[in-house]
Amino acid sequence: MFKRVNKLLIELPAPEYGDANAAAAVQELLGGKFGEMSTLNNYMYQSFNFRQKGKLKPFYDIVASITAEEFGHVELVSNTINLLQKGSSFTAEPDLTPLQNGKDMRNTYAFIATAQTSLAGDSMGNPWRGDYVFSSGNLVLDLMHNFFLEIGARTHKMRVYEMTDHPTAREMIGYLLVRGGVHVLAYAKALEIATGVDLTKMLPIPSLDNRVFDHARKYEDQGVGNVLFTWSDGDYQDIRAIWKGTNPSNGQPLVVQEGTPEGAPIPDLDDLPEEFAPGIGKDEYEQILKRLRANM
Ligand code: MN
Ligand code: MN
Repeated sequence: MFKRVNKLLIELPAPEYGDANAAAAVQELLGGKFGEMSTLNNYMYQSFNFRQKGKLKPFYDIVASITAEEFGHVELVSNTINLLQKGSSFTAEPDLTPLQNGKDMRNTYAFIATAQTSLAGDSMGNPWRGDYVFSSGNLVLDLMHNFFLEIGARTHKMRVYEMTDHPTAREMIGYLLVRGGVHVLAYAKALEIATGVDLTKMLPIPSLDNRVFDHARKYEDQGVGNVLFTWSDGDYQDIRAIWKGTNPSNGQPLVVQEGTPEGAPIPDLDDLPEEFAPGIGKDEYEQILKRLRANM
């Protein structure tokens, strides 16, 4: 089962301005083939479908615990997309065409379907698909797939970083480049234990250190790239059998941390009357308050 924490993994800077087309590009990191919905669902189904969880517990624990982290990545990218829509429309009567800017943005669907928030789809508006999930049941094959998936995800993050200099988007991408690097290394080390092959000699792919990216360097300096979390109050302890030794990219010790990172507040979005979202006016709100009190 899953336990939910009402926090975001990191603090996203409140944007001074929006960029709806940057939001559209960032969608790839959410619902694209190599986006966070794919890493989440791949590890989630592999963990559900895992055979001999007891005998192969360190591998099960790695896949299961990283699943929980990916849930937080989906949440982080979604919140980034929502913040990037700041000021994309104005509040006015319908006849004044308050959503007119949406007509010329790349992702008109976000203006029509979700009131300027995230979609379960990619940067071209294609829906996320269940056949992005690979769960073969063969442990080495699944781990190789996950290693490849994390490297593909890292590549796409770098490319979206190169597409937008929006500070909110870059903060998210900088952090996820570092966390993605952790997952690449975790699957490489799992494969080394499973097969004897040292895949860390191939890394990094692309052969570019995270430190090249201004917004990733801060997280590298904080040691965020050396830590694997259990995301649990006591389970998944056997990730320690895999996440040990030193980080080949910086020579620092690898650390397992119990539980979750501290986290930061989740941004709260203002109402958007021109989208009828959430569509609760002052009078309706007072009625709701009365009904809430009556039921207490
Ligand atoms: Mn991720
Ligand atoms: Mn990952």
